[in-house]
Amino acid sequence: MRKKIAAANWKMNCTYQQGEQLLTEILSSNIALNDHQEAVFAVPFPYLTMAAEKTGGRKGYAIAAQNCYNKKSGAYTGEVSAEMLKSINIPYCLVGHSERREYFQESNQMLAEKIDLLLANGIIPIFCCGEPLEIREAGTQNSFVAKQLEESLFHLSPEAVAGIVIAYEPIWAIGTGKTASAAQAQEIHAYLRSVLAGKYGQAIADTIPVLYGGSVKGSNAQELFSCPDVDGGLVGGASLNAEEFSTIIKSLP
Ligand code: PEP
Repeated sequence: MRKKIAAANWKMNCTYQQGEQLLTEILSSNIALNDHQEAVFAVPFPYLTMAAEKTGGRKGYAIAAQNCYNKKSGAYTGEVSAEMLKSINIPYCLVGHSERREYFQESNQMLAEKIDLLLANGIIPIFCCGEPLEIREAGTQNSFVAKQLEESLFHLSPEAVAGIVIAYEPIWAIGTGKTASAAQAQEIHAYLRSVLAGKYGQAIADTIPVLYGGSVKGSNAQELFSCPDVDGGLVGGASLNAEEFSTIIKSLP
């Protein structure tokens, strides 16, 4: 069975103490996860070791960085490398969140470089893709997201691509309260999987988790996650509320 993942993206929110409290509250619900289920917390860099210690030893609970740089090491003041993340045993890293693409001009090529560095360091990239509103309104979302996959992932070997996670996040649904309907999510997730199958074959495409992101909440998670090609969610706003995110974790199939 494909992995099912509820991933929290805290973005630039919470002080250290608030983050610690949030994790304590979520973990105190003692939600047991099966072998194929995972709850992942993408926390700000200064909180990575605290979050890893708090979740350490809890089956199915893991930590992600929100970003890394596209260079191995060197004179890049303020940046964090994949090797640094590996040195503190961080298993996941978000790549290409739409906010990074928009505010930091991250290109598909740059994201391909980040993915290579993460995989070389044994870290699972959670590759974010998704279209802006004007593309959705023009009805060209499929070719838009296919290009994102082609330019950032299709240089990878079949073995390498089998080790990544994809998060489809329509930009018009991020932080807007406007969720894609379950039918819209299923349609484009199935399309993304067909694009992966076209390049790498159905067997590999079937192993890659494709998460949905965009205003996922406790009240809509179950419906979205029950779609056959939706393998969980990447959650922003609702991941900052312990009760909401606990409900989202419990909604994993
Ligand atoms: C996100 O930032 O990845 C996201 C999906 O945010 P929200 O859940 O707040 O829409």
